[in-house]
Amino acid sequence: MPIHIDEAKCIGCMKCVDNCPIDLFMPSAQKGAKPIVAYPEECWYCGVCAMECPKDAIRLQHPLMNRPKWVAKTSLHEE
Ligand code: SF4
Ligand code: SF4
Repeated sequence: MPIHIDEAKCIGCMKCVDNCPIDLFMPSAQKGAKPIVAYPEECWYCGVCAMECPKDAIRLQHPLMNRPKWVAKTSLHEE
């Protein structure tokens, strides 16, 4: 699941639903509840939903192959 919504933070404003370019979310039938992640496999990882969320309730989990591997600069010069 690429999108994690923190239920404790979400206020159900639906900004993520309105702004996702591919309509990945569906609004919950219950007022004030977090939206439904309807098509997780379609996510582009553009980050718009997380940027628009006023409560910082959305966390994107990028696939392993897209995560950079950080190496300390000093270790590159070790012999
Ligand atoms: S990261 Fe982009 S494509 Fe994926 S759910 Fe958020 S807004 Fe939609
Ligand atoms: S934008 Fe954030 S607070 Fe609003 S519905 Fe989406 S996850 Fe919840």
